[in-house]
Amino acid sequence: MRRQMYAKPMTTARKSLYVCLIAGATVASQAAEYRVAVDPDVGAARVEIRLAEGESSDLFSMPAWAPGDYRIVNFGRHVRDVKFWQGADEIPLKDGRANGVNAWRASRPGDKVTYTVLAQPPGIFSENLRITATEVFWNGPAVFGWLEGHAKEAHSVRVETAPVGGVFVCPLSGVLDAKSSERTFTAKDYDSLVDSPVVFGTTISTRTFIVSGKEHVLAAFRRPASLSLTDFETTCRAIVTEAQSLIGELPYARYVFFLDVGGPGGGLEHADSARLAIPPGVRSTGVAGFLAHEFFHAFNVKRIRPKPLGPFDYTRPAITSTLWWMEGVTDYYAELLTYRAGLIDQEEFLANLGYAVDYAMNSPAAETVSAAESSRRVWEANNSSGFGGLSYYDEGKAIGFCLDLAIRWKTGGVRSLDDVVRTLYAETSGGKPGFGDGRIRDVCVQVGGSELAGMYDACVERPGPLPIRDALAAHGLFFDGRGIQRSPNASADALRLLSQFLTR
Ligand SMILES: [Zn+2]
Repeated sequence: MRRQMYAKPMTTARKSLYVCLIAGATVASQAAEYRVAVDPDVGAARVEIRLAEGESSDLFSMPAWAPGDYRIVNFGRHVRDVKFWQGADEIPLKDGRANGVNAWRASRPGDKVTYTVLAQPPGIFSENLRITATEVFWNGPAVFGWLEGHAKEAHSVRVETAPVGGVFVCPLSGVLDAKSSERTFTAKDYDSLVDSPVVFGTTISTRTFIVSGKEHVLAAFRRPASLSLTDFETTCRAIVTEAQSLIGELPYARYVFFLDVGGPGGGLEHADSARLAIPPGVRSTGVAGFLAHEFFHAFNVKRIRPKPLGPFDYTRPAITSTLWWMEGVTDYYAELLTYRAGLIDQEEFLANLGYAVDYAMNSPAAETVSAAESSRRVWEANNSSGFGGLSYYDEGKAIGFCLDLAIRWKTGGVRSLDDVVRTLYAETSGGKPGFGDGRIRDVCVQVGGSELAGMYDACVERPGPLPIRDALAAHGLFFDGRGIQRSPNASADALRLLSQFLTR
């Protein structure tokens, strides 16, 4: 384990600009080459996209939204000075800002585009572009646009880290050119490029650990001194190990926990990393559920997903009725993983599930809005948590619990929601397409039997209280109006099912 495996020599002279290159890679005849210069004094980045020889495009776009944050942001709002070029000749824009705030069209195709990205406010879940004298962090959609017709190409990314220098971390493996201080890494396409955050600077602490032969990096920045990475390794290792045990594999070559200590917002998942806002000085057990939630997204959302959630169309809302599963069931598994890993005890586990059931039973919004509608229409609310006042996080967590108990009950404890998750994972991981509408329901029925169909519809498709009473009773539990309680006169069968559910 090397604490500073990305350390590089410090530059001696402070330069006012430093440069990032995104160069043509494995498909050299088709790939574009980007060049970015970031100015810490001004707080902006200059970006250049150069297409391969003979290639051209007349449309440059920035994303309207960032995957994981289900609302329109319009990252083009923070872009200035878009210019098209053919060689050294500037090409006039055709209609100014074509296609709204996120797209620019040239009067004829060119082989290069240049633009400026301003450092910008954080989103709900992540910093976007933060530039200080000692640290730079970016979330891909805030910085990188694409040229029409070239988003599917491979990119190799070269980052000049001077003058900030220090440690460089990105989920994509990098190679350092010591002479130029340039860091090169490869993204297989635009989706991968914008899904790979970068942080570098002189105030970053890192620690690595291995699970199942895969390297996991803890990268703490902004206020890293207040955190014990030894402590965080213990908790993250336990969560990763438990998830590996559930699914049977870890779906990435390398994973990064970006720990933004004292940073704004919550967490944002990526395929091979997550950015998490961590309160300064906190113990890892105090944020174990949060760590588990973002980490489990590497399976659920980044691999298990409906078709609109990858490959992405960044120009319009990705409408799906399954965000209750993507976020709420992820929250349910965050609870399960932290419990199974021994990070919370039985009483805390049941109490936390009780809070979710309380929400699903007593929330006024649950009377009028279904989990499916809350998911599908979240873009109208533009709040990234659910339409009609119904949180698909809390409602979905309760639904996950309800479906899990129902499957265990109907199969005599032989099957569980774990089997649904593993089936969906097998169908969608490894680069396979996302699932279509109705697939989660089909797999629940396949795993739990025909009675799961009605249960699923009542949980997901229709508003109203969660139909969990009988499934709880089958496990010797009941909902007392506020939380989950153990029934004093549970049958032997019920106690056996409860024991199986609580086994870790
Ligand atoms: Zn989430």
